Amino acid sequence: MDDTTPLGDESPAACNICGNVLDTYYPADGISSRLIHPLWMGEHVDHEPDPVPMTVGAGSCDFCGDKQVVWWFYGANIITASPGEDSHAWGPIWSACDPCAGYVDRLDPQGLGRRLVKVMGAINPRVRADPRAARESWLLIHEPYIKSVYKKVRSPYATDHPNG
Ligand SMILES: [Zn+2]
Ligand SMILES: [Zn+2]
Repeated sequence: MDDTTPLGDESPAACNICGNVLDTYYPADGISSRLIHPLWMGEHVDHEPDPVPMTVGAGSCDFCGDKQVVWWFYGANIITASPGEDSHAWGPIWSACDPCAGYVDRLDPQGLGRRLVKVMGAINPRVRADPRAARESWLLIHEPYIKSVYKKVRSPYATDHPNG
């Protein structure tokens, strides 16, 4: 991959194949970053990420994966890392569906975690197997991010729900 690409920290990038917003992954060497599929998609994605600027597609909710993105949040670029291990930058701009945005607005990462156990548990067997561990790992990311949010805008690609 060409590391001089402007995609990454500043502008959100989406996968041209599946339309999901990509995350930036920093290996432990701290030098070469690359874009990866979001973790909620699980380990078995049938294609490599094909990054394009997010303006190409509407993307999906960065919290639960819902295709109905209505809001974009701006906050801190949360980086999770363990000593000696790879770190992961989650990016400063998160897209959200309407239900997930409600939890961000109410500063309620715990409630968001309960929602995600239901939504993601339906598609991700690892979440079903250990919902408590899933909630704890989400909280490490979502709590500081939600507290850091300073701006919320309606996605320019949001379409009105046919069913309201
Ligand atoms: Zn993809
Ligand atoms: Zn959502």
